[in-house]
Amino acid sequence: MRDISYRHLKFKNFTIEGFSRAAIQTFWRIPEFHLGFDLGALPWEFMGTQNWFISHTHLDHLAMLPNYVARRRMMKMSPPTIYLPENFVNLAAKLLKVWSHLDCGKFPCELVGLKPGDSVELSREIVVEAYPTSHRVDSLGYVVFHRRKKLLPEYLALPGEEICRLKNEGASITYEIKTPKVAYLGDSNQIGLDVNPIFYEAEVLITEMTFVEKRHQSGKIHKFGHIHLDDIVQRQEKFKNELIIASHFTARSTAEAIFRSVQEKLPDMLGGRLKLWL
Ligand SMILES: [Zn+2]
Ligand SMILES: [Zn+2]
Repeated sequence: MRDISYRHLKFKNFTIEGFSRAAIQTFWRIPEFHLGFDLGALPWEFMGTQNWFISHTHLDHLAMLPNYVARRRMMKMSPPTIYLPENFVNLAAKLLKVWSHLDCGKFPCELVGLKPGDSVELSREIVVEAYPTSHRVDSLGYVVFHRRKKLLPEYLALPGEEICRLKNEGASITYEIKTPKVAYLGDSNQIGLDVNPIFYEAEVLITEMTFVEKRHQSGKIHKFGHIHLDDIVQRQEKFKNELIIASHFTARSTAEAIFRSVQEKLPDMLGGRLKLWL
């Protein structure tokens, strides 16, 4: 059963799934990392993902929150954890309380407030960090890191038993490598990119590009906390990402106008790395 349509793409050893259109709905997930971004809608099969990182509280990014929590309860799954900008935790808790009266049921979940610079260890390997973005309400972007430990070069030649012995003695014989796998901008104007160089470095960048057409003026767009295609064009040399998924296009532009506008200004689609999801 597929109740809501979305796109998906296998990249290396993980999958990016989602859909985003401004004022309609935004949701993404990476099942292998057990996490998703935003809950504007939720296909039935996404329910099994237990950790969600909310970029901001606009309706098209959060409307599905009560339903998601209730579905997991109904299916006897463990309560999920929802991370969101810290100023909105109390309001989200109130919203769930109202729904628990309306729906006559419980909404078990953990709501965790985050601010820029916070870091969440989902597992030994997967760490998510929150970054400042610039929208009309408090908002966050996220970067998912894969973390692993490597042996310090001076220990590389030692036999296995010796390394084990040193480890048991508590010697620090390793160093940490953190690879930024996926960066999620959420809704933001160009400042969200400019203040977070890590967004240009992640293997995959999921960015909003709400407006693309010439008739949409970028000054006003920035004030409302969004990005125009021209912002991407101006920064094209900065993107080191292997894959850039642009989405969250305005419903005021047709699919044809979006593809035409982007191809006009970025004919090689950033060396084939830029994909438009709409
Ligand atoms: Zn939005
Ligand atoms: Zn928004």
